[in-house]
Amino acid sequence: MTDPPSVPPPRSLPVATGARDRRPGLGGLAEADLAGLLAELGEPPFRARQVADAAWRSAAAGWDDVTTLARPLRAALAERLRFDTVAETTVRPADGGATEKALHRLSDGQLVESVLMHYPGGADRRERTTLCLSSQAGCAVGCPFCATGELGFERDLEVAEIVDQARHARRRLAAAGRRLTNVVFMGMGEPLLNLDAVLEAAAVLTDPARFGLGARHITISTSGVVPGIERLARLRPQWTLAISLHAGRDPLRDLLVPLNRRWPVAEVVAAARAYGRETGRRVSYEYVMIDGINDTIADADAVASLLRGSGAHVNCIPMNPVAHTPWRASGPERIEAFAARLRAAGIGVTVRRNRGQEVGAACGQLAAEQAGAPAAPVVARRRERLVVASAAALRGERSAEPPPPGVGRAPGPPPGAGRAPGSPPGVGRTPAPPRIEAPVGAPRAARGRTPTRPPARRSR
Ligand code: SAH
Ligand code: SF4
Repeated sequence: MTDPPSVPPPRSLPVATGARDRRPGLGGLAEADLAGLLAELGEPPFRARQVADAAWRSAAAGWDDVTTLARPLRAALAERLRFDTVAETTVRPADGGATEKALHRLSDGQLVESVLMHYPGGADRRERTTLCLSSQAGCAVGCPFCATGELGFERDLEVAEIVDQARHARRRLAAAGRRLTNVVFMGMGEPLLNLDAVLEAAAVLTDPARFGLGARHITISTSGVVPGIERLARLRPQWTLAISLHAGRDPLRDLLVPLNRRWPVAEVVAAARAYGRETGRRVSYEYVMIDGINDTIADADAVASLLRGSGAHVNCIPMNPVAHTPWRASGPERIEAFAARLRAAGIGVTVRRNRGQEVGAACGQLAAEQAGAPAAPVVARRRERLVVASAAALRGERSAEPPPPGVGRAPGPPPGAGRAPGSPPGVGRTPAPPRIEAPVGAPRAARGRTPTRPPARRSR
């Protein structure tokens, strides 16, 4: 086998310019720390309540708007604390105003996205306004159908940078006389690879004295970081856990969700089932439907055999088009047949429609747009690679690639991996599928090369 031709590194977010502003963000500060800071400034204890009101109950967007505080105190606070960690936000409406996509620029120039979605009430459900937030700038997992995956990993977000996306949305909604009802961690990044900050942000968002959302109104989505799921289960939270499944069979999931090479699908589902048992919460599964790739009846059967009897719910989501893939969304009949097969196995299914396609509402698309269109030959090579890799995956061949750098050690292909299906061990071994530019999710500095030594497994 010849080596695959080298592929230029993926695009990345527009180069982050400035140094990061190291002042803590008010939105991530614990009440006690705020009180401590005000005491240091010689302020009476009731000031903490005034500042908290400005942060959590008012329309103020910066220290200058907090007119309940004297100007010198505002200046002293501004020296130590950022009122808002988002430097600039651009909002684009879509779906006749039912969807609003926001692109946030952080202090060092990184771009992250949040999406507000309004769902009108009906006979059987209440009106909802859901915010989809980002937990990282970019993502190390590198799912090929995802615009964020293509950008690669830039950095973890701080607690305040996560919370401030919600504060922004709340201010925009309040100005229109509406309120935020739900938050989903389904924007850019893998929340369970920035779990400390995500847990703290969820605590702020559900604290009645701060953001004040009901814990049951928060959903955290993961592509399958098993130690993170186990850690969440031990906390017994009231949030909903969503698993991005996208394939029930390892060869295909190795390609669609490269983290599967570290934590195979059966381990992910076992951890999610344990989470459901320990927390009493129903786990939901996201399944992006890609035409001719993961949408056959055999795929539905593989999902059914994993989830049967677990009480889980599957959301089928037609793939949003992403420029660098040769793939498109499954058609409505295929999605319906897939959903019907799952229902026949006793599994609850919702077929979701895409929101805000005209503003690139699939996670990471707006930031990818800002990064500029990749050159046509680069796109063509990526597409070719995906065609070859998906053909191998559909033949049942497991990827010999290591998991994305920074997310854990390769489990090593199971015995018989790479064999043609049905052939006995050691016979008819087929070559491993070619690399799809594997370091797609690698930090910028590491892109373009395979790590020489497997990275240490992340601690729990
Ligand atoms: N990293 C986490 C959370 C963010 S991604 C995760 O993967 O679960 C949130 C959801 O957006 C995932 O279910 C992901 O599969 C979905 N998504 C990404 N790209 C998409 C696309 N092109 N079309 C439709 N859904 C997409
Ligand atoms: Fe990362 Fe989720 Fe996108 Fe996969 S789907 S690359 S895990 S953000």
